Amino acid sequence: MSIEFETPKPIAQIQFVLKTVAENMMRSQSRAFDENEHEIPYSYIEFMHNAMRSIGGGSLAPKEEKPAKEGDEKKEKRPPIGYQNLAAQIEMLSWGDVGFYLITPGGGLGAAAVQSAGSAEQRAKFLARFSEEKPTFAAMAMTEAGAGSDTSAIRTRAVLDEATQEWVINGEKIFVTGGDKSFKEYEQFGKGFVVVWASIDPTAGRAGMRAFVVESGTKGVTIAKLEHKLGIRASDTATIALVDARVPYDNILGSPTVEKTTTGFKGAMATFDMTRPLVAASGIGVARAAVEYVKEQLAEQGVQIRYGLPRQKMTAIERDVIEMEIQLRSAWLLVLKAVWMADNKKPNALESSMSKVKAGDVVTKITQKAVEIMGPLGYSREFLLEKWFRDAKITDIYEGTGQINRLVVARQILGYSGKELR
Ligand SMILES: Cc1cc2nc3c(=O)[nH]c(=O)nc-3n(C[C@H](O)[C@H](O)[C@H](O)COP(=O)(O)OP(=O)(O)OC[C@H]3O[C@@H](n4cnc5c(N)ncnc54)[C@H](O)[C@@H]3O)c2cc1C
Repeated sequence: MSIEFETPKPIAQIQFVLKTVAENMMRSQSRAFDENEHEIPYSYIEFMHNAMRSIGGGSLAPKEEKPAKEGDEKKEKRPPIGYQNLAAQIEMLSWGDVGFYLITPGGGLGAAAVQSAGSAEQRAKFLARFSEEKPTFAAMAMTEAGAGSDTSAIRTRAVLDEATQEWVINGEKIFVTGGDKSFKEYEQFGKGFVVVWASIDPTAGRAGMRAFVVESGTKGVTIAKLEHKLGIRASDTATIALVDARVPYDNILGSPTVEKTTTGFKGAMATFDMTRPLVAASGIGVARAAVEYVKEQLAEQGVQIRYGLPRQKMTAIERDVIEMEIQLRSAWLLVLKAVWMADNKKPNALESSMSKVKAGDVVTKITQKAVEIMGPLGYSREFLLEKWFRDAKITDIYEGTGQINRLVVARQILGYSGKELR
């Protein structure tokens, strides 16, 4: 299997379209929806839903691979590029506005969880929603007070009611990205869902963890709070309370019985292996926006970056900008490797966490440096740079903090288990 560094044509075509969307629909509304947190840009959502249906065959949800048809073996086999495509789309949308990217209709983390932990029937049932008439959202709820980095400490409980054959879920989930749009029944949106992680047997530890598809409007589930945040303010972040919430038996992702293995927990980790490089791609989009802005502003002031000069002949600004670009490219190469491995079904826990660690570092440092170089232009709310500086930090927090991903990298390299190195 070879690695191709040239952007595949179908991806380049989608990037071209998304760049126009980013320039015309996202940047123009960025400030307004940053200032008016919790307002919903319906026109953007509607537009993107239709656009993704026509160009992407649905949405930003991971796609099911089509089974081979008779005669397919005669056709030249093209390398799989599903995750590479997703990463490129997410990078471009986040270049436009990361808050808007997070409210682009489609699967998000919820669909990724169904994709990695669900059965073929569940994937067919739940992922098909994103291609339907109305824009639809899905979220994933893992974090609880006292169970963030240590996901195995979750206390949400799911108990099977033998009489009705329903799961009864109790607990409270915090910081659920897109939780509101995925769960609340909006007239404008289709039937979304939140994938809620709970324990079916607290005595079994990680082996007892399972994910449940909790559909929009389920009785006993409420949006208890919406966070006010530093950045990504166009994206809702919800607290979801579940009190005797009843979920159909078939909505459990994975086995309903507890084997003495960590299969349940592995389902969560498998989801993150797929999505961490996508979070990294999103951060890289924000970082690229900042670097390009700096270069444009410098060019307006007559300052061009003179590539190829010996270091001692460069100005400090030239060195800074070139360093930013080096970091940006190296972070993107790590993403490409992680998604290439995902596309080719190779275990990528190491590469996935590496890409997220690097992108988290790069986007926070680049946006900070950009604000420093631009001075007042970087600090004023008249321009978007200060917003990108605020939007950047989340890359290093959700789906495993920088510290936790460093631990994953160390464990993978040194061959330690989670218990041995924590
Ligand atoms: C805007 C936003 C959106 C989010 N979206 C979602 C979502 O959609 N779904 C979801 O389930 N969660 C979501 N989260 C939650 C996020 O994943 C957690 O905040 C994150 O995993 C950290 O958990 P914590 O907040 O409990 O921090 P803690 O685990 O309490 O960590 C606090 C600090 O200690 C460090 N730390 C912890 N353990 C170790 C260790 N062993 N070694 C070294 N350092 C350590 C951490 O890196 C961090 O710096 C979101 C969070 C935010 C802010």
